[in-house]
Amino acid sequence: MAQQADVFKKLVAHCKEYGFVFQSSEIYDGLAAAYDYGQYGVELKNNIKKYWWDSMVLLHENVVGLDSAIFMHPTVWKASGHVDAFNDPLIDNKDSKKRYRADVLIEDLIQKIEGKIEKEVTKAKKRFGDAFDEAQFKETNPGVLANKKKIEVIHSRFAKALNDNDLEELRQIIIDYEIACPISGTKNWTDVRQFNLMFSTEIGSTADGAQTIYLRPETAQGIFVNYLNVQKSGRMKLPFGIAQIGKAFRNEIVARQFIFRMREFEQMEMQFFVRPGEDQKWFEYWKEKRMLWHKALGMGDDSYRFHDHDKLAHYANAATDIEFKMPFGFKEVEGIHSRTDFDLSSHQEYSGKKLQYFDPELNKNYVPYVIETSIGVDRMFLSVLAGAYNEEEIEGKDGKKDTRIVLNLPPVLAPVKLAVLPLVKKDGLPELARSIVNTLKFDFNCQYDEKDSIGKRYRRQDAIGTPYCITIDHQSLEDNTVTIRYRDTMKQDRVKIEELHGIIADKVNLREVLKKVV
Ligand code: ATP
Repeated sequence: MAQQADVFKKLVAHCKEYGFVFQSSEIYDGLAAAYDYGQYGVELKNNIKKYWWDSMVLLHENVVGLDSAIFMHPTVWKASGHVDAFNDPLIDNKDSKKRYRADVLIEDLIQKIEGKIEKEVTKAKKRFGDAFDEAQFKETNPGVLANKKKIEVIHSRFAKALNDNDLEELRQIIIDYEIACPISGTKNWTDVRQFNLMFSTEIGSTADGAQTIYLRPETAQGIFVNYLNVQKSGRMKLPFGIAQIGKAFRNEIVARQFIFRMREFEQMEMQFFVRPGEDQKWFEYWKEKRMLWHKALGMGDDSYRFHDHDKLAHYANAATDIEFKMPFGFKEVEGIHSRTDFDLSSHQEYSGKKLQYFDPELNKNYVPYVIETSIGVDRMFLSVLAGAYNEEEIEGKDGKKDTRIVLNLPPVLAPVKLAVLPLVKKDGLPELARSIVNTLKFDFNCQYDEKDSIGKRYRRQDAIGTPYCITIDHQSLEDNTVTIRYRDTMKQDRVKIEELHGIIADKVNLREVLKKVV
């Protein structure tokens, strides 16, 4: 675990050093939980968004896009339940004065015990070698069984407390299991209180006329209030979906894990409107589709898992998360929720406007049910970087050991697709390199670099995840060939200049990944 924490620290430092992510307002010592994306960060982020958008809107003829305003009528948030119920349970440690989410403290405890089980398994695997039967070991080993039981007991108390909104019981679990503050090390806790996560501000110029409005904590409500506009103007038939990418804001109690938990972040959400009674079927459909979308990036199927919710949000009748194996454990990246007709019915009631759909097959009007897929762009960004970051031992100069830091990013997401590098800054090599850039730049994000030794230039490209380096040497002038170096294997091939476009397009073209998710 210590090693993993170390990796996370290095990743954060790497993001800054190589222009992926900067602390917001850094020259003023920063603003907590707000971040800016640098020159490579913005490219990676845009590539993630395009992958999501195209997989939703291009691949599904019944899913269309929307871009709704961040500011909305305040009653939207009353109707959606956010004014009354968008709360997190908070608890303070009296000694460190640090604030925590009570539910996260308990989830972390469960994860710690899961970690102990995994440790036992790894130890036994080593001891028994090939003869090891993991399933049997987990069913019979007394240490594992005791820890499993412990998790079961905590879990059932925890789920009940959340569902009953029993804040005292949440505190009691923290006390009973002696959870200590990671900063002060003490168990001196306050009571647990509810804390509303919405930011508010005022709209209007005069003191009398000003109205309190909220910064949206999710993009979904912009979709719900436009559902009929889109359905009518697009002549959409059920089932159909509306997809949107946009900023959301939450005054998170604890925001300490870099871009995992921010106060301003970006969401990619899709609301899929279905016939009542068909919600379970579509929930399963989107669960599978979304998992496929993640796995198609080729970052390792073992890095993902589903996690069903213990406590359903006020609007949901089924919910699951897709979790990614971050350096600090499996964490939610995406939520898939069956939201029933809660939102549309509630908006219908508060606005007094009918939000029904006339179903020509059933010959009747009803309020559709909704399946939502909701993924954070920033969390996705973090998961991709965490999965891609590697420190490799390689053979350096004179056979000495060396390390290279490489981002093994899926080529479709890489900020720069190829670097074009003249071996030397003379003899016409830069000119040829520039002419290659000028041909390829219309299709791929290319970078020209002539500074420093070729080895140093390769390392710089490895560090930002560029999948291909094209080197121009003297032979290139004679026979129009160049070397192409592959980031992951560091192998090099000599290829014709006119073949470059085809070779690169094959690997970085979004089409190839999209084909895996239809
Ligand atoms: P968590 O339990 O981690 O607070 P959540 O269940 O409240 O998350 P949802 O309301 O389901 O999250 O939001 C959908 C997605 O939006 C999440 O899966 C996550 O990727 C992203 N997201 C939510 N809150 C944040 C945040 N504070 N910073 C970055 N991304 C976020």
